[in-house]
Amino acid sequence: MASNGVSPFEQAQLQLSRALKIQKVSDALRARLQKPEREITVAIPVTMDDGTTRVFEGYRVQYSSLRGPYKGGIRFHHDANIDEVKALAFWMTIKCAVAGIPMGGGKGGITLDPKELSKGELERLSRGWVGALYPVLGPERDVPAPDVNTTPEIMRWMADEYKKLTGDIRNGTFTGKPLDYGGSEGRGAATGAGGFDVFKALQTEMKLPESVSVVIQGVGNVGGNAAKIFHALGHKVLAMSDSKGGVYSPRGLDPDAVEKYKKENGALKGFPHAKYISNGKLLELPCDVLIPAALENQITKKNARNIKAKVVLELANGPTSTEADDVLFKKGVHVVPDVLANSGGVVVSTYEWEQNLKGEHWSEKDVLHKLRKLLDRESKNVWERSKKLKTDLRRAAFALALERLEEALYAKKV
Ligand code: NAD
Repeated sequence: MASNGVSPFEQAQLQLSRALKIQKVSDALRARLQKPEREITVAIPVTMDDGTTRVFEGYRVQYSSLRGPYKGGIRFHHDANIDEVKALAFWMTIKCAVAGIPMGGGKGGITLDPKELSKGELERLSRGWVGALYPVLGPERDVPAPDVNTTPEIMRWMADEYKKLTGDIRNGTFTGKPLDYGGSEGRGAATGAGGFDVFKALQTEMKLPESVSVVIQGVGNVGGNAAKIFHALGHKVLAMSDSKGGVYSPRGLDPDAVEKYKKENGALKGFPHAKYISNGKLLELPCDVLIPAALENQITKKNARNIKAKVVLELANGPTSTEADDVLFKKGVHVVPDVLANSGGVVVSTYEWEQNLKGEHWSEKDVLHKLRKLLDRESKNVWERSKKLKTDLRRAAFALALERLEEALYAKKV
Protein backbone atom coordinates (compact mmCIF):
# COMPACT_ATOMS: atom_id res chain seq x y z
CA MET A 1 0.00 0.00 0.00
CA ALA A 2 1.38 3.39 -0.94
CA SER A 3 1.69 6.18 1.60
CA ASN A 4 -1.42 7.91 0.19
CA GLY A 5 -3.48 4.79 1.01
CA VAL A 6 -4.01 3.86 -2.65
CA SER A 7 -2.38 0.67 -3.92
CA PRO A 8 -0.62 0.73 -7.32
CA PHE A 9 -3.39 -1.35 -8.90
CA GLU A 10 -6.09 0.95 -7.48
CA GLN A 11 -4.07 3.84 -8.86
CA ALA A 12 -3.91 2.19 -12.30
CA GLN A 13 -7.67 1.52 -12.28
CA LEU A 14 -8.33 5.11 -11.27
CA GLN A 15 -6.34 6.29 -14.29
CA LEU A 16 -8.37 3.91 -16.47
CA SER A 17 -11.71 5.13 -15.19
CA ARG A 18 -10.68 8.75 -15.78
CA ALA A 19 -9.66 7.93 -19.35
CA LEU A 20 -12.92 6.04 -19.95
CA LYS A 21 -14.81 9.27 -19.28
CA ILE A 22 -13.26 10.86 -22.34
CA GLN A 23 -12.84 7.82 -24.60
CA LYS A 24 -15.95 5.77 -25.28
CA VAL A 25 -15.31 2.02 -25.52
CA SER A 26 -17.50 -1.06 -25.74
CA ASP A 27 -18.79 -2.67 -22.54
CA ALA A 28 -16.78 -5.76 -23.54
CA LEU A 29 -13.47 -3.88 -23.54
CA ARG A 30 -14.32 -2.03 -20.35
CA ALA A 31 -15.04 -5.35 -18.63
CA ARG A 32 -11.89 -7.03 -19.98
CA LEU A 33 -9.64 -4.26 -18.68
CA GLN A 34 -10.86 -4.51 -15.09
CA LYS A 35 -8.97 -7.75 -14.42
CA PRO A 36 -5.89 -9.59 -15.66
CA GLU A 37 -6.47 -12.63 -17.86
CA ARG A 38 -4.24 -14.67 -15.56
CA GLU A 39 -2.31 -14.04 -12.36
CA ILE A 40 0.09 -16.58 -10.95
CA THR A 41 1.95 -16.72 -7.64
CA VAL A 42 4.64 -19.37 -7.28
CA ALA A 43 6.88 -20.60 -4.46
CA ILE A 44 10.49 -20.92 -5.59
CA PRO A 45 12.73 -23.09 -3.41
CA VAL A 46 16.43 -22.16 -3.56
CA THR A 47 19.35 -24.03 -2.03
CA MET A 48 21.40 -21.32 -0.34
CA ASP A 49 25.20 -21.39 -0.19
CA ASP A 50 25.11 -22.72 3.39
CA GLY A 51 23.00 -25.72 2.32
CA THR A 52 19.71 -24.49 3.80
CA THR A 53 16.59 -24.01 1.64
CA ARG A 54 14.80 -20.68 1.33
CA VAL A 55 11.48 -20.36 -0.47
CA PHE A 56 10.87 -17.11 -2.38
CA GLU A 57 7.55 -15.79 -3.69
CA GLY A 58 7.45 -15.13 -7.44
CA TYR A 59 4.78 -13.70 -9.72
CA ARG A 60 3.64 -13.42 -13.31
CA VAL A 61 0.58 -11.44 -14.29
CA GLN A 62 -0.69 -11.82 -17.85
CA TYR A 63 -3.00 -8.86 -18.14
CA SER A 64 -4.10 -8.69 -21.75
CA SER A 65 -3.31 -10.60 -24.93
CA LEU A 66 -5.69 -8.56 -27.10
CA ARG A 67 -2.86 -7.02 -29.14
CA GLY A 68 -0.29 -9.84 -29.02
CA PRO A 69 1.80 -11.99 -26.66
CA TYR A 70 2.04 -10.72 -23.08
CA LYS A 71 5.12 -8.51 -22.68
CA GLY A 72 6.69 -6.98 -19.58
CA GLY A 73 9.64 -6.96 -17.21
CA ILE A 74 10.46 -8.94 -14.10
CA ARG A 75 11.16 -6.93 -10.95
CA PHE A 76 13.39 -8.17 -8.12
CA HIS A 77 12.59 -6.02 -5.09
CA HIS A 78 11.92 -6.46 -1.38
CA ASP A 79 8.57 -4.66 -1.77
CA ALA A 80 7.44 -6.54 -4.92
CA ASN A 81 3.96 -8.02 -4.45
CA ILE A 82 1.09 -9.27 -6.59
CA ASP A 83 -0.84 -5.98 -6.45
CA GLU A 84 2.14 -4.02 -7.75
CA VAL A 85 2.84 -6.59 -10.47
CA LYS A 86 -0.83 -6.42 -11.53
CA ALA A 87 -0.60 -2.62 -11.85
CA LEU A 88 2.62 -2.85 -13.83
CA ALA A 89 1.10 -5.49 -16.13
CA PHE A 90 -1.91 -3.25 -16.74
CA TRP A 91 0.37 -0.30 -17.57
CA MET A 92 2.27 -2.55 -20.01
CA THR A 93 -1.03 -3.26 -21.79
CA ILE A 94 -1.62 0.46 -22.23
CA LYS A 95 2.04 1.17 -23.07
CA CYS A 96 2.30 -1.41 -25.85
CA ALA A 97 -0.89 -0.02 -27.36
CA VAL A 98 0.38 3.60 -27.15
CA ALA A 99 3.60 2.51 -28.87
CA GLY A 100 1.57 0.60 -31.46
CA ILE A 101 3.72 -2.56 -31.11
CA PRO A 102 2.14 -6.02 -31.56
CA MET A 103 2.30 -6.94 -27.88
CA GLY A 104 -0.09 -7.37 -24.97
CA GLY A 105 0.71 -6.59 -21.36
CA GLY A 106 2.33 -8.64 -18.61
CA LYS A 107 4.73 -8.26 -15.71
CA GLY A 108 6.59 -10.44 -13.22
CA GLY A 109 8.52 -10.26 -10.01
CA ILE A 110 10.13 -11.90 -7.04
CA THR A 111 10.04 -10.54 -3.50
CA LEU A 112 13.67 -10.33 -2.40
CA ASP A 113 16.50 -7.97 -1.68
CA PRO A 114 19.01 -8.99 -4.36
CA LYS A 115 21.85 -7.46 -2.33
CA GLU A 116 21.38 -10.20 0.30
CA LEU A 117 22.03 -13.04 -2.16
CA SER A 118 25.33 -14.34 -3.53
CA LYS A 119 25.70 -14.52 -7.31
CA GLY A 120 25.14 -18.29 -7.25
CA GLU A 121 21.97 -17.94 -5.15
CA LEU A 122 20.67 -15.24 -7.49
CA GLU A 123 21.28 -17.48 -10.50
CA ARG A 124 19.48 -20.44 -8.90
CA LEU A 125 16.56 -18.17 -7.98
CA SER A 126 16.35 -16.69 -11.50
CA ARG A 127 16.39 -20.18 -13.02
CA GLY A 128 13.81 -21.24 -10.40
CA TRP A 129 11.42 -18.50 -11.56
CA VAL A 130 11.60 -19.94 -15.08
CA GLY A 131 11.24 -23.51 -13.79
CA ALA A 132 8.01 -22.54 -12.05
CA LEU A 133 6.52 -20.55 -14.93
CA TYR A 134 7.89 -21.85 -18.25
CA PRO A 135 4.66 -23.61 -19.33
CA VAL A 136 2.94 -20.22 -19.66
CA LEU A 137 5.85 -18.42 -21.38
CA GLY A 138 7.10 -18.48 -24.98
CA PRO A 139 7.68 -16.21 -28.00
CA GLU A 140 4.03 -16.48 -29.09
CA ARG A 141 2.66 -16.48 -25.54
CA ASP A 142 4.56 -14.33 -23.03
CA VAL A 143 7.90 -12.55 -23.48
CA PRO A 144 9.45 -11.25 -20.22
CA ALA A 145 12.13 -8.54 -20.00
CA PRO A 146 14.26 -6.77 -17.36
CA ASP A 147 12.97 -4.26 -14.81
CA VAL A 148 14.23 -3.02 -11.45
CA ASN A 149 17.29 -5.06 -10.34
CA THR A 150 17.15 -7.52 -13.25
CA THR A 151 20.27 -7.30 -15.38
CA PRO A 152 21.22 -8.68 -18.83
CA GLU A 153 23.06 -11.48 -17.00
CA ILE A 154 19.86 -12.47 -15.17
CA MET A 155 18.01 -12.45 -18.49
CA ARG A 156 20.70 -14.75 -19.92
CA TRP A 157 20.26 -17.26 -17.05
CA MET A 158 16.50 -17.15 -17.60
CA ALA A 159 16.72 -17.54 -21.38
CA ASP A 160 19.17 -20.42 -20.93
CA GLU A 161 16.92 -22.19 -18.44
CA TYR A 162 13.93 -21.79 -20.76
CA LYS A 163 15.91 -23.33 -23.65
CA LYS A 164 16.97 -26.27 -21.48
CA LEU A 165 13.45 -26.96 -20.24
CA THR A 166 11.65 -26.60 -23.58
CA GLY A 167 14.22 -27.30 -26.30
CA ASP A 168 13.08 -24.08 -28.02
CA ILE A 169 16.34 -22.68 -29.35
CA ARG A 170 14.88 -19.62 -31.10
CA ASN A 171 15.87 -17.48 -28.08
CA GLY A 172 12.80 -15.25 -28.49
CA THR A 173 11.20 -15.77 -25.06
CA PHE A 174 13.28 -13.37 -22.94
CA THR A 175 14.49 -9.93 -24.02
CA GLY A 176 17.13 -7.65 -22.54
CA LYS A 177 19.71 -10.43 -22.98
CA PRO A 178 23.43 -9.65 -23.32
CA LEU A 179 24.58 -8.82 -26.85
CA ASP A 180 26.59 -12.04 -27.16
CA TYR A 181 23.53 -14.07 -26.16
CA GLY A 182 20.96 -12.84 -28.68
CA GLY A 183 20.40 -9.39 -27.20
CA SER A 184 19.63 -6.38 -29.38
CA GLU A 185 21.97 -3.50 -30.01
CA GLY A 186 20.61 -0.47 -28.18
CA ARG A 187 18.47 -2.41 -25.65
CA GLY A 188 20.59 -1.48 -22.60
CA ALA A 189 20.06 2.25 -23.03
CA ALA A 190 16.71 2.02 -24.85
CA THR A 191 14.40 3.26 -22.06
CA GLY A 192 16.60 6.29 -21.32
CA ALA A 193 17.21 6.94 -25.02
CA GLY A 194 13.50 6.63 -25.76
CA GLY A 195 12.72 9.07 -22.92
CA PHE A 196 15.02 11.56 -24.61
CA ASP A 197 13.32 10.97 -27.99
CA VAL A 198 9.91 11.68 -26.42
CA PHE A 199 11.30 14.86 -24.82
CA LYS A 200 12.74 15.98 -28.20
CA ALA A 201 9.46 15.25 -30.01
CA LEU A 202 7.54 17.50 -27.58
CA GLN A 203 10.22 20.04 -26.59
CA THR A 204 8.87 22.86 -28.77
CA GLU A 205 5.21 22.13 -27.99
CA MET A 206 6.01 22.18 -24.27
CA LYS A 207 7.77 25.55 -24.75
CA LEU A 208 11.07 24.33 -23.31
CA PRO A 209 14.31 26.16 -24.08
CA GLU A 210 16.90 24.69 -26.47
CA SER A 211 19.12 23.61 -23.59
CA VAL A 212 17.27 22.40 -20.49
CA SER A 213 18.15 21.72 -16.85
CA VAL A 214 17.31 18.22 -15.67
CA VAL A 215 16.82 16.57 -12.26
CA ILE A 216 16.80 12.77 -12.10
CA GLN A 217 15.54 10.60 -9.25
CA GLY A 218 16.99 7.07 -9.46
CA VAL A 219 20.07 6.55 -11.57
CA GLY A 220 19.91 2.84 -12.33
CA ASN A 221 19.64 1.52 -15.87
CA VAL A 222 16.92 3.94 -16.95
CA GLY A 223 17.84 7.13 -15.06
CA GLY A 224 21.59 6.60 -15.47
CA ASN A 225 21.32 6.27 -19.24
CA ALA A 226 18.93 9.22 -19.45
CA ALA A 227 21.42 11.34 -17.47
CA LYS A 228 24.25 10.44 -19.85
CA ILE A 229 22.19 11.17 -22.96
CA PHE A 230 20.85 14.53 -21.75
CA HIS A 231 24.39 15.53 -20.67
CA ALA A 232 26.02 14.36 -23.92
CA LEU A 233 23.49 16.32 -25.97
CA GLY A 234 24.16 19.65 -24.28
CA HIS A 235 21.68 19.73 -21.39
CA LYS A 236 22.53 20.37 -17.75
CA VAL A 237 21.98 17.57 -15.21
CA LEU A 238 21.52 19.40 -11.90
CA ALA A 239 20.86 16.45 -9.59
CA MET A 240 20.94 12.65 -9.52
CA SER A 241 19.98 10.18 -6.77
CA ASP A 242 19.73 6.55 -5.74
CA SER A 243 17.77 4.90 -2.93
CA LYS A 244 20.06 6.48 -0.32
CA GLY A 245 19.67 10.09 -1.55
CA GLY A 246 21.34 12.26 -4.14
CA VAL A 247 23.80 14.95 -5.11
CA TYR A 248 23.07 18.41 -6.47
CA SER A 249 25.19 21.03 -8.19
CA PRO A 250 23.72 24.20 -9.75
CA ARG A 251 26.66 24.16 -12.18
CA GLY A 252 25.71 20.71 -13.42
CA LEU A 253 27.01 17.15 -12.89
CA ASP A 254 28.95 14.84 -15.18
CA PRO A 255 26.90 11.59 -15.05
CA ASP A 256 29.90 9.40 -15.96
CA ALA A 257 31.92 10.84 -13.10
CA VAL A 258 28.96 10.39 -10.71
CA GLU A 259 28.58 6.76 -11.80
CA LYS A 260 32.31 6.11 -11.31
CA TYR A 261 32.19 7.73 -7.86
CA LYS A 262 29.26 5.54 -6.84
CA LYS A 263 31.03 2.38 -8.04
CA GLU A 264 34.14 3.25 -6.03
CA ASN A 265 32.40 4.53 -2.89
CA GLY A 266 29.11 2.62 -2.80
CA ALA A 267 27.04 5.85 -2.53
CA LEU A 268 26.61 9.24 -4.19
CA LYS A 269 27.08 11.24 -0.97
CA GLY A 270 30.47 12.93 -0.90
CA PHE A 271 30.71 13.44 -4.67
CA PRO A 272 33.12 16.41 -5.06
CA HIS A 273 31.74 19.93 -5.58
CA ALA A 274 28.15 18.80 -5.08
CA LYS A 275 25.73 19.03 -2.15
CA TYR A 276 23.93 16.03 -0.66
CA ILE A 277 20.15 16.18 -1.20
CA SER A 278 17.38 13.88 0.03
CA ASN A 279 15.09 12.20 -2.51
CA GLY A 280 12.17 14.27 -1.21
CA LYS A 281 13.96 17.61 -1.61
CA LEU A 282 15.38 16.60 -5.00
CA LEU A 283 11.88 16.36 -6.46
CA GLU A 284 11.21 19.97 -5.45
CA LEU A 285 14.30 21.51 -7.08
CA PRO A 286 13.70 24.26 -9.68
CA CYS A 287 14.46 22.79 -13.13
CA ASP A 288 13.02 22.48 -16.63
CA VAL A 289 12.59 18.70 -16.67
CA LEU A 290 12.09 16.47 -13.62
CA ILE A 291 12.67 12.79 -14.34
CA PRO A 292 11.41 10.30 -11.77
CA ALA A 293 13.24 7.07 -12.71
CA ALA A 294 12.94 4.94 -9.56
CA LEU A 295 9.67 3.61 -8.18
CA GLU A 296 5.93 4.31 -7.97
CA ASN A 297 4.15 7.01 -6.05
CA GLN A 298 6.86 9.62 -5.60
CA ILE A 299 4.86 12.71 -6.63
CA THR A 300 1.70 12.83 -4.57
CA LYS A 301 -0.85 15.31 -3.31
CA LYS A 302 1.63 16.04 -0.45
CA ASN A 303 4.47 17.38 -2.60
CA ALA A 304 2.83 18.19 -5.99
CA ARG A 305 2.33 21.83 -5.03
CA ASN A 306 6.06 22.16 -4.35
CA ILE A 307 7.16 20.79 -7.73
CA LYS A 308 8.94 23.59 -9.60
CA ALA A 309 9.76 21.73 -12.82
CA LYS A 310 8.08 22.80 -16.07
CA VAL A 311 7.80 19.21 -17.26
CA VAL A 312 7.73 15.83 -15.49
CA LEU A 313 9.07 13.12 -17.78
CA GLU A 314 8.01 9.84 -16.17
CA LEU A 315 10.68 7.25 -16.85
CA ALA A 316 9.66 5.22 -13.78
CA ASN A 317 6.35 3.38 -13.88
CA GLY A 318 3.57 4.98 -11.85
CA PRO A 319 5.58 7.75 -10.12
CA THR A 320 2.70 10.29 -10.03
CA SER A 321 -0.62 9.86 -8.24
CA THR A 322 -3.84 10.97 -9.95
CA GLU A 323 -4.33 13.67 -7.29
CA ALA A 324 -0.85 14.99 -8.11
CA ASP A 325 -1.70 14.82 -11.82
CA ASP A 326 -4.57 17.24 -11.22
CA VAL A 327 -2.48 19.64 -9.13
CA LEU A 328 0.28 19.69 -11.77
CA PHE A 329 -2.17 20.13 -14.67
CA LYS A 330 -3.69 23.17 -12.92
CA LYS A 331 -0.20 24.60 -12.38
CA GLY A 332 0.52 24.20 -16.11
CA VAL A 333 3.16 21.49 -15.56
CA HIS A 334 3.15 18.91 -18.37
CA VAL A 335 3.36 15.34 -17.09
CA VAL A 336 4.62 13.14 -19.93
CA PRO A 337 3.16 9.82 -18.77
CA ASP A 338 5.13 6.62 -18.20
CA VAL A 339 3.07 4.74 -20.80
CA LEU A 340 4.63 7.00 -23.42
CA ALA A 341 7.84 8.36 -21.85
CA ASN A 342 9.40 5.01 -20.88
CA SER A 343 8.08 2.93 -23.77
CA GLY A 344 11.52 2.88 -25.48
CA GLY A 345 12.45 -0.20 -23.43
CA VAL A 346 9.54 -2.34 -24.55
CA VAL A 347 9.84 -1.12 -28.14
CA VAL A 348 13.48 -2.24 -28.39
CA SER A 349 12.61 -5.44 -26.51
CA THR A 350 10.10 -6.09 -29.26
CA TYR A 351 12.82 -5.42 -31.86
CA GLU A 352 14.99 -7.97 -30.02
CA TRP A 353 12.17 -10.56 -30.13
CA GLU A 354 11.66 -9.87 -33.85
CA GLN A 355 15.41 -10.23 -34.59
CA ASN A 356 15.57 -13.50 -32.61
CA LEU A 357 12.60 -15.01 -34.44
CA LYS A 358 13.90 -13.91 -37.87
CA GLY A 359 17.52 -14.85 -37.11
CA GLU A 360 18.66 -11.28 -37.80
CA HIS A 361 20.98 -8.82 -36.08
CA TRP A 362 20.31 -5.11 -36.63
CA SER A 363 22.91 -2.36 -36.12
CA GLU A 364 22.62 0.03 -33.19
CA LYS A 365 22.13 2.90 -35.64
CA ASP A 366 19.17 1.13 -37.27
CA VAL A 367 17.60 0.18 -33.94
CA LEU A 368 17.84 3.69 -32.48
CA HIS A 369 16.68 5.30 -35.72
CA LYS A 370 13.62 3.05 -35.86
CA LEU A 371 12.90 3.78 -32.19
CA ARG A 372 13.21 7.56 -32.69
CA LYS A 373 10.85 7.53 -35.66
CA LEU A 374 8.24 5.53 -33.77
CA LEU A 375 8.42 7.67 -30.62
CA ASP A 376 8.36 10.90 -32.56
CA ARG A 377 5.16 9.78 -34.32
CA GLU A 378 3.40 8.46 -31.21
CA SER A 379 4.45 11.41 -28.99
CA LYS A 380 2.92 13.80 -31.51
CA ASN A 381 -0.19 11.61 -31.72
CA VAL A 382 -0.61 11.85 -27.94
CA TRP A 383 0.07 15.59 -27.92
CA GLU A 384 -2.50 16.31 -30.65
CA ARG A 385 -5.08 14.18 -28.89
CA SER A 386 -4.51 16.07 -25.64
CA LYS A 387 -5.14 19.35 -27.48
CA LYS A 388 -8.22 17.99 -29.24
CA LEU A 389 -9.71 16.55 -26.07
CA LYS A 390 -8.48 19.50 -23.93
CA THR A 391 -7.01 17.09 -21.42
CA ASP A 392 -3.70 16.07 -19.87
CA LEU A 393 -1.17 13.87 -21.66
CA ARG A 394 -1.94 10.81 -19.51
CA ARG A 395 -5.63 10.76 -20.37
CA ALA A 396 -4.73 11.44 -24.02
CA ALA A 397 -2.26 8.52 -24.09
CA PHE A 398 -4.80 6.21 -22.45
CA ALA A 399 -7.44 7.34 -24.97
CA LEU A 400 -5.13 6.42 -27.85
CA ALA A 401 -4.40 3.02 -26.26
CA LEU A 402 -8.10 2.34 -25.64
CA GLU A 403 -8.89 3.07 -29.28
CA ARG A 404 -6.23 0.57 -30.40
CA LEU A 405 -7.34 -2.06 -27.89
CA GLU A 406 -10.91 -1.65 -29.14
CA GLU A 407 -9.75 -2.19 -32.73
CA ALA A 408 -7.96 -5.38 -31.63
CA LEU A 409 -11.06 -6.64 -29.81
CA TYR A 410 -13.20 -5.91 -32.85
CA ALA A 411 -10.73 -7.69 -35.15
CA LYS A 412 -10.87 -10.78 -32.92
CA LYS A 413 -14.66 -10.91 -33.13
CA VAL A 414 -15.01 -10.69 -36.89
P1 NAD B 1 17.39 -0.25 -11.70
O1 NAD B 1 17.29 -1.31 -10.68
O2 NAD B 1 18.44 -0.33 -12.74
O3 NAD B 1 17.53 1.20 -10.98
C1 NAD B 1 16.66 1.69 -10.02
C2 NAD B 1 17.30 2.93 -9.41
O4 NAD B 1 16.39 3.56 -8.51
C3 NAD B 1 18.55 2.63 -8.58
O5 NAD B 1 19.50 3.66 -8.79
C4 NAD B 1 18.05 2.68 -7.14
O6 NAD B 1 19.07 3.00 -6.20
C5 NAD B 1 17.03 3.79 -7.25
N1 NAD B 1 16.01 3.77 -6.22
C6 NAD B 1 15.38 2.73 -5.67
N2 NAD B 1 14.51 3.16 -4.72
C7 NAD B 1 14.59 4.50 -4.73
C8 NAD B 1 13.95 5.53 -4.00
N3 NAD B 1 13.03 5.25 -3.07
N4 NAD B 1 14.28 6.82 -4.27
C9 NAD B 1 15.21 7.10 -5.22
N5 NAD B 1 15.85 6.18 -5.92
C10 NAD B 1 15.55 4.90 -5.68
O7 NAD B 1 15.92 -0.17 -12.36
P2 NAD B 1 15.53 0.44 -13.77
O8 NAD B 1 15.44 -0.69 -14.73
O9 NAD B 1 16.36 1.62 -14.05
O10 NAD B 1 14.02 0.88 -13.49
C11 NAD B 1 13.69 2.15 -12.92
C12 NAD B 1 12.24 2.47 -13.22
O11 NAD B 1 12.04 2.48 -14.64
C13 NAD B 1 11.21 1.48 -12.68
O12 NAD B 1 10.04 2.17 -12.33
C14 NAD B 1 10.94 0.58 -13.86
O13 NAD B 1 9.70 -0.08 -13.77
C15 NAD B 1 10.98 1.59 -14.96
N6 NAD B 1 11.20 1.04 -16.30
C16 NAD B 1 12.30 0.28 -16.56
C17 NAD B 1 12.51 -0.20 -17.87
C18 NAD B 1 13.75 -0.96 -18.25
O14 NAD B 1 13.95 -1.16 -19.45
N7 NAD B 1 14.60 -1.36 -17.32
C19 NAD B 1 11.58 0.09 -18.87
C20 NAD B 1 10.48 0.89 -18.57
C21 NAD B 1 10.31 1.36 -17.28
